[in-house]
Amino acid sequence: MSESFLYIEQVGPVRRIWLDRPQKRNAQSRQMLDQLDAAFNDARGDENTRVVVLAAKGPDFSAGHDLKQAQEERAEFTVEERWSYEEQRYYGYCMRIWDFPKPTIAQVQGACIAAGFMLANMCDLLVASEDAVFSDPVTHTMGAAATEVLIHPWVMGLRQAKEFLFAGSKLTAAEAKAIGFVNQVVPRDQLDPATLALAGRIAQAPPFALKILKKSLNRSAEVQNMRQALSAHFDLHQLSHVSSEYLQTKEAGLASAIRHGKVRTHDEEK
Ligand code: ZN
Repeated sequence: MSESFLYIEQVGPVRRIWLDRPQKRNAQSRQMLDQLDAAFNDARGDENTRVVVLAAKGPDFSAGHDLKQAQEERAEFTVEERWSYEEQRYYGYCMRIWDFPKPTIAQVQGACIAAGFMLANMCDLLVASEDAVFSDPVTHTMGAAATEVLIHPWVMGLRQAKEFLFAGSKLTAAEAKAIGFVNQVVPRDQLDPATLALAGRIAQAPPFALKILKKSLNRSAEVQNMRQALSAHFDLHQLSHVSSEYLQTKEAGLASAIRHGKVRTHDEEK
């Protein structure tokens, strides 16, 4: 049996899925992502699960994709290999969370960076502790065009998304709440109970009504061509992976770029 990077529990009608790799700041490895997709799949089929909470063990929600593993296993990927890898594990798994037929809540503390931001924002709601920090610096640090799913303008508005991504800014939980992509900000020791309480309230609604309500709410973004915009960004993101700017960054060594970096929170080697 392979190592588990998740901790999964049932709290009444709430399925709580924890990223459980705190010593690596919940860096998302291939194995973790495969397990996460399987965990959502399992929750989808479970009649007793009405709401899913995506949480994370340790001080940080997630520092993003596991760049160390990426360097070791996928540095020499061809265009074709990267395309299928990212289409399945990054874009595909994220869109399955967006399409998940029950309400989902991201429970976020500490660093929520790059793919951590992407993942949390695929959930319907987001509850953050006061110490949460949101960032997507990969254009600055890696020369890539943001992350694979450009969810940012859809959850934070176009103008805010531009500043956030162009400047590689960090947003505190309070700022994120003011912008509107965080529903609630609570003290760190209240994060679990506050998120569970919200999940519990949602779980009291009739499940079929909730399911079609979510579908309709999602469609309000989809009729604005959200899906096509995300899909088109995925294509351009792949182009950015083979640009000379990206290759120069890679040449210099992602690890060193990260170390000197511009954003320490991206570094999961420490
Ligand atoms: Zn990518």
